[in-house]
Amino acid sequence: MSEATTGKKRLPLRRAGFVIPEDPKAEPYLVGCKCGNCGKYFSPPRVICLNCAEQQMEPAALSGKGTVYSYTIVHQQLPFSVVQVPYAIVIVALEEGCQTHGVVTVNLDSVAVGAPIEVYFEKVREDDEGNDLIVNKFRIVQK
Ligand SMILES: [Zn+2]
Repeated sequence: MSEATTGKKRLPLRRAGFVIPEDPKAEPYLVGCKCGNCGKYFSPPRVICLNCAEQQMEPAALSGKGTVYSYTIVHQQLPFSVVQVPYAIVIVALEEGCQTHGVVTVNLDSVAVGAPIEVYFEKVREDDEGNDLIVNKFRIVQK
């Protein structure tokens, strides 16, 4: 069934480093790029490889799994922010060997350097047309 017949879409809330498949049952996924010359991954996508300086970058799905490289806990609410304090801003060392960043809003006590972490996608609200607005967040993988 196409979006034209259902009318409702899943859309990123803002500039997103992820892809939302048209199939409503398919999970969104992070996207970066991979160098066609040396195989190194980058996030966000870029034109020139930082490893070999070639311009053979191709979009690449990223697992969204990795470990916490660094983090800070935010306690000061910013005006117009959709994320409520407290939350953690994390730099994630992804399995693919590149880094990305994001927020953690649950189980902040378990955020630590080296902790296993994974991305997930959450509807934050609907827009005026009833479309689901989606964001990506991270959560610590509980053992
Ligand atoms: Zn390269």
